Formats: sequence, structure tokens, C-alpha cells
Amino acid sequence: MAESPTRLMLNDEFFMREALYQAEAAGCLGEVPVGAVVVLNREIVGRGFNSPIGDSDPSAHAEIAALRDAARRLENYRLPECELFVTLEPCVMCAGAILHARIARVVYGARDPKTGAHGSILDLFAEAHLNHHTEVVGGVLAERCGRLLSAFFSERRMKKPAEADAPC
Ligand SMILES: [Zn+2]
Repeated sequence: MAESPTRLMLNDEFFMREALYQAEAAGCLGEVPVGAVVVLNREIVGRGFNSPIGDSDPSAHAEIAALRDAARRLENYRLPECELFVTLEPCVMCAGAILHARIARVVYGARDPKTGAHGSILDLFAEAHLNHHTEVVGGVLAERCGRLLSAFFSERRMKKPAEADAPC
């Protein structure tokens, strides 16, 4: 039986666009624009964006926020059937949280040459000694995800220090 048109729309790019909406929300609040969604059975069960400055919380990355949102909603600290979509390659902290949550699959957009933990600085997901393994796919809407970040940083460099914190 053919899939319905609605179902066909729900591919990786569809959910990455949802993660991009979250990233844009972070950027509007003056945070580095990174967003994430957690998906279960092709349905969004968690959303989050980067907010370490506003929350005074070094762990407030998009992935952590989306994992918390999903885990609360599903009332389970393990999310073994879930996929996580994030606009930027996860850092070591988020890769650790993803593995703790037993996420089945991670899809990310742009690479992060400074802190990326899927091969950019190291590959935590390929660590054979860890007891959980997550499928990881990178490069989905990578250009759009990266462009959002570079636009944010170039805009921030152009602003005077007093304006830099002003929300859009
Ligand atoms: Zn992170």
C-alpha cells in the first residue's frame, strides 16, 4: 500500500526544519542558534534550544533541553525508540547524554569543527567500550544550519558590546 502524502513529508529534512525553528528561537534570544527535536514514531515528543546564557546553565544545550522535554513527556529517562534531530554536531556533553538516554538514532545538520563529538574533534559514538550504540547521520540541511550560525556570529561581531545582548 502506498504511503499517504502526509507520511511521505515526514522525512529527515522535515524534522530538521523543526529543529531549525528551535534554533531560530535561540538566536532571537541572543543565544547561539542551535535547536533540537526528539521524535518517536515520526511524531515530535520533545523540543529544545540552546540557552546557557539566559539560564546561566553551562549544560543548557539544545539536545539536553529536547531530551529533558521528551523524557518528562514520556515519563521515562530512557528513550530507546527515539530519534534526535539537531542542527549542529553534538558536543561531548550532549553525545554523553544521548548515549545515556539510549537514543536510537541521531541526525544532525552542520559539523562543529571546534567541539563536535561525531568525528570533528573525536568520535564518542564510535567508542567500542561504551555499552550503547547510536546510529548517527550528519549533513542534513547542513548548509542552512551552518548559515544560521555564521549569520549570527557575523552579526554579533558587527554589533557594539552594548547592543550584543539585545534580543531581536
Ligand atoms: Zn552540546
